[in-house]
Amino acid sequence: MSRIAAVLLAAGEAARFGRPKQLIPWQGRPLILHTAGIPWSAGLDPVIVVLGAAAEQIAPLLEGQPLQVVRNYRWREGMGSSLCVGLAALPPRTEAVLFLTVDQPFVTPAHLRRLIAAWEAGASIAVTRWQRRRTVPALFDRRHFAQLAALQGDAGGRQLFDKATERPVEVEAGQPLLAADIDTPADYERLRARHPRPDLRGLRGVLCDMDGVLWHGLEPLPGLHDFFAFLRRHSLAFTLVTNNASKTPRQYVEKLRRFGIEIGEEAVLNSAIAAATYLHERRPNGGRVYPVGGPGVHAALREAGFTLVDEEARGADVVVVGWDPHLTWRKMARATLLIRNGAAFIGTNPDLTFPAEEGQVPGNGAQLAMLEAATGRKPTVVGKPETALYRQALARMGLRPQEVLVIGDRLDTDILGGVRLGAPTALLLSGVHGEEALRRALVHPDFVFDDLAALVAAWEEALKGGQR
Ligand SMILES: [Mg+2]
Repeated sequence: MSRIAAVLLAAGEAARFGRPKQLIPWQGRPLILHTAGIPWSAGLDPVIVVLGAAAEQIAPLLEGQPLQVVRNYRWREGMGSSLCVGLAALPPRTEAVLFLTVDQPFVTPAHLRRLIAAWEAGASIAVTRWQRRRTVPALFDRRHFAQLAALQGDAGGRQLFDKATERPVEVEAGQPLLAADIDTPADYERLRARHPRPDLRGLRGVLCDMDGVLWHGLEPLPGLHDFFAFLRRHSLAFTLVTNNASKTPRQYVEKLRRFGIEIGEEAVLNSAIAAATYLHERRPNGGRVYPVGGPGVHAALREAGFTLVDEEARGADVVVVGWDPHLTWRKMARATLLIRNGAAFIGTNPDLTFPAEEGQVPGNGAQLAMLEAATGRKPTVVGKPETALYRQALARMGLRPQEVLVIGDRLDTDILGGVRLGAPTALLLSGVHGEEALRRALVHPDFVFDDLAALVAAWEEALKGGQR
């Protein structure tokens, strides 16, 4: 659970549309799944979906998704009644709520994160400014919840941000269509053709996952050699990024060398090094760190100038948790005591499980969950799907998010991270997630390819033929 919940208003009858617009196809999925995926991708938790008209038809589509579905039986009374139902469903400790509507398909997770940043900077109401007016998505601090719940009729939250005694902070919509809504079938036809699709031709580099993309275990995957030849031929920058904190860049360089590919160590970034860099940026004078993790985590922290303390030592400013194959109760006890005493709490990566020979075993995310339960504190996570690891890779290459293609085989880490970063994304079906997972996912990649060979062929074609 995050401190901020999202409420997706999807109870309306769509009288001007003539049929439930929640169900119309958008990018190959029902519109409601598309728009519910936007706050979910931004990391808001819970995402509460308020259904009303046609709820019997719509609810089955949302089953099994990480969404909380609630019913507004009084949807005919207008949007005010849906605000009220949404607010009533908030967890008790929610500090702010972000309202969205189901018919705004161009809203981006990055825009929601800007609204959240405005709230974190002290705004009690943050609204979208689009075409010279204030509109949703809009975020309200908890001190407005009672007023919101008392609103009547169809104007909804707009009444509050028009009449509020506190002036809302306006967050400019970065894109011309960002807050456009679908009211009529004509809007739908006009807007569906304009969904922005990134152009492979303008890209200058890639952020690429390794396992499931370049290889599977000891086997190289189809197109591996062509991929690196393609990158070099077109002078595209690349960084190979992994959440795995236990192996060093040198080990990956050697693995690729065995497949006949030569790259430098600086082209590999793992979550242990990214965590050490993240800490170094915030504490340039070093400090005492208690590590829970393998040799990769220890080495990265030492190289970044930090003093490591062992489990008997009491003082540490920071606890860094990476996957630890020699985890003990004593280590977790020390980490718990330090975090409870105010030490910063950093996790290299949030992967709940780790693929071992026998199957899935506890990964770093499971270790973080144990410490979170024992301390009541949430870690700052550096690896995918958070964006610090990707941002460091971008900084190394001197590129901006929109200039790179994020390539991966996992929707919940690689692709979600790319979406949060604001970069174009490509899912390769050669690893963990296949067609079925893609159909059910709330996060959607811009491109889907069978493997690297198919990606290279499509990209080469785009560069040659001048088409997308
Ligand atoms: Mg992978």
